[in-house]
Amino acid sequence: MNTDWQASEIPEALCRLIRPHVPMRLHTSLRVGGPATWLATPRSGDEFVAAMDWVVAQEIPWFVLGRGTNVIFDETGYRGLVFDLSELTGLHLDGATVRVMAGKSLPSLVQEVSRRGLAGLEWACGIPGSIGGAVVMNAGAFGQDLASILSSIRLLQEDGIRVVEAEELALGYRTSRLRTGELRGIVLEATLALMEGDSSACMARIEHFTTLRAKSQPQGASCGSVFVNPAEGPTAGQLLDRAGCKGLRIGCVEVSHLHANFIINYGENNANDILELIEQMHDAVLRTSGISLQREICMASSSEIR
Ligand SMILES: Cc1cc2nc3c(=O)[nH]c(=O)nc-3n(C[C@H](O)[C@H](O)[C@H](O)COP(=O)(O)OP(=O)(O)OC[C@H]3O[C@@H](n4cnc5c(N)ncnc54)[C@H](O)[C@@H]3O)c2cc1C
Repeated sequence: MNTDWQASEIPEALCRLIRPHVPMRLHTSLRVGGPATWLATPRSGDEFVAAMDWVVAQEIPWFVLGRGTNVIFDETGYRGLVFDLSELTGLHLDGATVRVMAGKSLPSLVQEVSRRGLAGLEWACGIPGSIGGAVVMNAGAFGQDLASILSSIRLLQEDGIRVVEAEELALGYRTSRLRTGELRGIVLEATLALMEGDSSACMARIEHFTTLRAKSQPQGASCGSVFVNPAEGPTAGQLLDRAGCKGLRIGCVEVSHLHANFIINYGENNANDILELIEQMHDAVLRTSGISLQREICMASSSEIR
């Protein structure tokens, strides 16, 4: 193990991709997180693979970030290199088959395919994450999820790139074998099977879902739902509401009055307050309902090397 990786010299070809000491609060929707030693923002698959080869050769700890809408970095940040995939946004259409690079944001993908009359992804219009993050989390809304349209992915592993069929990912409610760590690697690209449809009908569905979301989703810096719903019975939001969590506040972070499973951050540099509030929410439900809610949000602590 290379304990002196911070002394590694960045190869010239990678210098323009890699920036030192970048605050993670600028790259997460909750707006918290201290600095990463390095942040790499590749603009093509080849640049990404080159950066990954270097990181692996130097034994540098690394973490992959999609759009940062479901992840918390603590205030110590990340000791290692964070890959920011937000520039990997290529899109290729072949009839109703869509190949899309991992960093593409769901809202922009939904707009682009819907304008062309490709149906099946409209439910995702308000999910601010990337397609790569959506695969890992099996993102979903309004009773639909990525599992229903995902055909396969290209997965970068430490020994190369391979195609993984959707069935191998064991996509379930907000989970996958990538999320659980049974399968390791980075989603480079996803292939989706959409349906030929009518663009105005797609746009009307987007408008419908946007209106529904506006009624139920609080505004402000958040990570979406903090906890996943239990397999049966009341939703996490209902349990948190019954436990009196709405309005619970630590410093500048508060449980939304509109939706008890959302926290809104009005401050910055306050990851500890967020983590403490999440624990209080969890404990309140355990006390009142005897249910131990599971977090939906991912932790990107310095010890996590995926
Ligand atoms: C306002 C708001 C509303 C939301 N609404 C919904 C909703 O309705 N439904 C829903 O499902 N989610 C929702 N979310 C949560 C979030 O947008 C989704 O979980 C999304 O899929 C996360 O994508 P991301 O790119 O932001 O992932 P990140 O937060 O960047 O990463 C999440 C995890 O995935 C890993 N990861 C990311 N990209 C890759 C990749 N290419 N390869 C391998 N691992 C990767 C990261 O390492 C991390 O462990 C919401 C969030 C917000 C802020």
